[in-house]
Amino acid sequence: MSDTRVPLLDLTRMDASERDELRNAFERVLESGRYIGGPEVEALERESADYLEVKHAIGVSSGTDALVAVLMALDLGPGDEVICPTYTFFATAGSVWRTGAKPVFVDIDPVTYNWNEQQALAAVTDKTKAFIPVHLFGQCAEIDRVCALGAEKGIPVIEDAAQAIGTQLRGRSAGSMGTAGCFSFFPSKNLGGLGDGGLVTTNDDEFAHRVQLMRNHGMEPKYYHSMVGGNFRIDALQAALLRVKLRRLEAAHARRRENAKYYGDALRAAGVGADTQAAEDVPMGKVGLPVCVHDSHIYNQYTLRVPGGLRDGLRAYLAENGVGCEVYYPVPLHLQECFKSLGHEPGDFPVAEKAAAETLALPIFPELTETELAHVVERIAAFCNDRA
Ligand SMILES: *Cc1c(COP(=O)(O)O)cnc(C)c1O
Repeated sequence: MSDTRVPLLDLTRMDASERDELRNAFERVLESGRYIGGPEVEALERESADYLEVKHAIGVSSGTDALVAVLMALDLGPGDEVICPTYTFFATAGSVWRTGAKPVFVDIDPVTYNWNEQQALAAVTDKTKAFIPVHLFGQCAEIDRVCALGAEKGIPVIEDAAQAIGTQLRGRSAGSMGTAGCFSFFPSKNLGGLGDGGLVTTNDDEFAHRVQLMRNHGMEPKYYHSMVGGNFRIDALQAALLRVKLRRLEAAHARRRENAKYYGDALRAAGVGADTQAAEDVPMGKVGLPVCVHDSHIYNQYTLRVPGGLRDGLRAYLAENGVGCEVYYPVPLHLQECFKSLGHEPGDFPVAEKAAAETLALPIFPELTETELAHVVERIAAFCNDRA
């Protein structure tokens, strides 16, 4: 066993210039006395709207609160249905539940792990009040047909782009295509802050105004409330720090893509990486490589497919060999205990359930070294060759 240890994520590997810029940003806010709202928040909103090619960007307290603020701005409540994938981070459906509306789950595509758009279209009823497609792992879900249907029937499309800042679908930025986009600045996201934060994007002036009101208790003017909102504000300090990170975001995406290319090339060369168009195609003793179907991917996660009941064995083996890895996500949302009253059973969404049993995410953060990447590949090859 070697001594090389490869963490799943190491946020402390910043270069000196980034550290200096973050410290300067902190000093600037400290001396300004403006800790809520103000010029840093406005600048982050302007700069991220430019980057994402949208008219409005509204800084909020987290990716979850971005979803909650948007759903509250849509006035969702009991009796309403919202269609979303079952294979995603909990917040996608948790935010729907918190408004009193019902999450209606659909299955996923076995290659991209993004929602099955056909099933989303088929799930529409006269109670459907929104779609929430999720651009999972850094690659866009197919949403053109739900956007078209949504425009025709007045059903908003809320893109959960928490893992997809700066990625594109046929030339359009994630979060710019639907009624609104929701982003997260959780530290593990590609644009991660030094704490929590989030963003709502929209091209609709009136909707932007409603989300701005929701962010601050539905208050306008001061102490007059036409709607019930919440405190969904982003800190000025967090905004200032995120502006530093935003300037480095494209370079960080590029490093993740290089790391992904390294893994793909090296795992293929070692004879264990399989390029697949379906889960069933991955031969025993090999790992399925992520498939980039839109030639735009920001690799928030680099997710392997490990068939034949070997996923948990590989995970444990990598952990023993100093390699951090993680399962996103072990339990699809339709089988979560808190959603038991929706009445789902194992087998309802077989593609997602299979993915939950077979996916494994490797370290992919920008600052990984070649030695570390090589170690990860070498250990995966050793595991696979023992079992081929
Ligand atoms: C991270 C994430 C969220 C929630 O973002 P937070 O900032 O952690 O609240 C929502 N949806 C998806 C798909 C995510 O990955």
